[in-house]
Amino acid sequence: MIKDFSFYMPVKVIFGPRCVLNNASEYAALGKKALIVTGKTSAKASGALDDIILGLTKNAQEYAVYDGSVPNPSLKSVYDGAEAAKREKADFIIAIGGGSPMDTAKAIAVLAVNDLSEERLFANDYKNALPMVFIPTTAGTGSEVTQYSVLTNDKIESKQSISSPVLFPKIAFLDARYCESMSYKTTLYTAVDALSHSVEGMLTKRANIISDTLAEKSISLIRECLPSLRSGSFSFEDREKLLIASALGGMVIAQTGTVAVHSLGYPFTYYKGADHGLANGYLLGAFMEFIEKKDPALAARTLLPFGSKSAREFKKTLEELVGRAPALTGQEIEEYAQKASKTKNFLNLSVELMPGDLVGVLKNSL
Ligand code: NAP
Ligand code: FE
Repeated sequence: MIKDFSFYMPVKVIFGPRCVLNNASEYAALGKKALIVTGKTSAKASGALDDIILGLTKNAQEYAVYDGSVPNPSLKSVYDGAEAAKREKADFIIAIGGGSPMDTAKAIAVLAVNDLSEERLFANDYKNALPMVFIPTTAGTGSEVTQYSVLTNDKIESKQSISSPVLFPKIAFLDARYCESMSYKTTLYTAVDALSHSVEGMLTKRANIISDTLAEKSISLIRECLPSLRSGSFSFEDREKLLIASALGGMVIAQTGTVAVHSLGYPFTYYKGADHGLANGYLLGAFMEFIEKKDPALAARTLLPFGSKSAREFKKTLEELVGRAPALTGQEIEEYAQKASKTKNFLNLSVELMPGDLVGVLKNSL
């Protein structure tokens, strides 16, 4: 019997070269003035900023640029961005970049129209946000189709998500030309993040027939790109496949959420400075070995679209791509596992998981 489910994906996705310019009418009615949220390099290097400015100009819409987004968004950067949005009287938000500018833009869209303390922001105590248009320049987070924004919270010394249906962008423009300026490392790490989303999604209690279908396609597209991910030489078709795989992974986690791989990865980023996708890559193989012991059928079904015959083989492939996690002390292992076991994702796994299991996963990934 097929499990009951609901599926909600309210983002209009427009894919193809030059889609930002060719579909300028899509954002003509979203507002009079946009705040364009970017980091320091990706919006310009990718060519996306020039394209959106041409589109806005064609529509006679005004804009201002806030380029204060930083990797692993800080609370200061989102509150500063919200001040910019208010000062500029922006009535909609455009995000250009990887997960960091996109997640920054979501928090800005909320804070521009709600006076919120940090506590209320993390408690998701808001009901509205400015409308958003998202243009990813990495292929990994899928933030353009999710209701999550992951921010750095120094109070808990880790990263923490805000989550609300009002955080879904209105439109996501997927143009793989914007990914061509990405470095090899960012391409690899973001692809591993997308893989992690799709694999983790299939392991959740909330997985359903549609999210699994999307996850399987996402995983198989990444598998097709393995030779390029190994060599660092990407055709345009590879770029397109990875961008679609990322968006599919985003649609998966929008339904299912992630599991403890993401929760364990956050301390690696916070304390060791590991890029988000790299942190997941360190852990995903060992986590699948744990799943295989608990539920071999689930592990086999999840690894099939990647072509791995066992979790061990999957772990080896990931190790070839990203290496093994850096050494941790016994105390660090305990702390990381403790932190991860307090997150929502910890409870999201479809097989039984104890905090001690995470210690085992961590030890197995070093
Ligand atoms: P990122 O932090 O957005 O970007 C990494 C680096 O790559 C930055 O220096 C960035 O430049 C640069 N870059 C990006 N695109 C480029 C391009 N096309 N050409 C040249 N340089 C480029 O990396 P990310 O992996 O995409 O995002 C990671 C963040 O997303 C983490 O904070 C993670 O927690 C979050 N995340 C969110 C979700 C979600 O559902 N919301 C899911 C997973 C992960 P700039 O300085 O210009 O930005
Ligand atoms: Fe992620």
